[in-house]
Amino acid sequence: MSLPEPSRRDTRLDPYIDAYAERTHGLTVSAVRALFAVANRPEVVSLAGGMPNIADLPREALAKAVDRLITENGTQAMQYGSGQGEPFMREKIVEVMAEEGIQAHADDVVVTCGSQQALDLVTRVFCDPGDVVLAEGPSYVGALGTFRAYQCEVVHVAMDEHGIDPVALRAALVSLKAGGKRVKFLYTIPNFQNPTGVTQTLERRRELIDIAREHDLLVIEDNPYGLLTLDAEPLPALRSMDADNVVYLGSFSKIFAPGFRVGWTLAPHAVREKLVLTQEAATLCPPVFSQFAIATYLEEFDWRSQIVTYRDMYRQRRDAMLDGLAQHMPEGTTWTVPQGGFFVWVTLPEGLDSQAMLPRAISARVAYTTGTAFYADGLGSRNMRLSFCYPTPERIIEGTRRLGEVLEQELEMHRTFGLGTQTARHYDLTTGPAPDIT
Ligand code: PMP
Repeated sequence: MSLPEPSRRDTRLDPYIDAYAERTHGLTVSAVRALFAVANRPEVVSLAGGMPNIADLPREALAKAVDRLITENGTQAMQYGSGQGEPFMREKIVEVMAEEGIQAHADDVVVTCGSQQALDLVTRVFCDPGDVVLAEGPSYVGALGTFRAYQCEVVHVAMDEHGIDPVALRAALVSLKAGGKRVKFLYTIPNFQNPTGVTQTLERRRELIDIAREHDLLVIEDNPYGLLTLDAEPLPALRSMDADNVVYLGSFSKIFAPGFRVGWTLAPHAVREKLVLTQEAATLCPPVFSQFAIATYLEEFDWRSQIVTYRDMYRQRRDAMLDGLAQHMPEGTTWTVPQGGFFVWVTLPEGLDSQAMLPRAISARVAYTTGTAFYADGLGSRNMRLSFCYPTPERIIEGTRRLGEVLEQELEMHRTFGLGTQTARHYDLTTGPAPDIT
């Protein structure tokens, strides 16, 4: 007796299953979210999250300023606003960008709901399903999620400790063109990259711009961490080297606070126009109250000193992580040495698998983000991203100690059974981790 064919779509689980647009098919909740619910317990040292540490903000003074903003200017601040963003906000953004050597006009700035929305708008404006987007391998998980949502094909370009590899970039452009593929843009994070912490050298930046000009390649420069440099002066932004081929994305999330959800794009005129129309279609206007609040902060507070305070705090944490890793990682483990930002990228000894190991690490009360989250093509299983932004230096050291023990045990298992850790359950982090680990 043959059993009836199981229904291709089981509407008992989701009655709307037949109605969803094709672009949603890649959007599924990852098993790792459940795991991170555990990772967020206080006894676990989470080196997984990407949350800025905003405890040092002058909250009482800010509360007074916001209070005044509502009483004196509330009818405007709580009203709809311009789709491009408020003019005074865009003027201030131009001032912030000048800190990184960018000369710009407020007319070319579009305010967005965090730089995440800037990524969304840029992708929406440029990409049709199947278009190719180039990105460093590895790259920011939130950007990969956006590219996936618009059904782009992400092609990773190799990078090393100096940033994206120009030889690999040229080769990718040539071979994609030969294969008839349409490359819409290169997405890059030149400063303290998420997830590797790597900074593109000046030489590499120049080469990248040369390649962009040669190949008519649009570059999306995502720079939320640029001002959080911990050792040296910031390097010039790509946008400061080429205003025609670069769309720049900035954010207040790391230099002030992410909860206001204010970021921006700086784009060539024609692109700016499309971005504004797309922004209007998406949200009518970016959050007006947040723009008033941030403009007030930039006007009335010493925001440059606040960035110095942030740098000092993150430097201590970065140093704690590097000390902890040097002390506790077993031989054969390597890691990057970031000069800013939030992240260190670890390469595990041969045979270990960061995805398989994660449940055991969490049992040992330490969490990290698996390397596979940062690749669109399944690579990264020997890598993990550790973030030093949030826990205290003591907790960071303790986290690396716990991680060191887990790695020792994994290596022991590997030596004994010779199987690597492949028998353990794999968690899929490739489809949208929770926002607090981005
Ligand atoms: N780009 C990168 C590289 C990031 O790391 C993040 C946040 N982690 C974002 C963009 C988005 O930041 P936001 O929307 O808060 O500006």
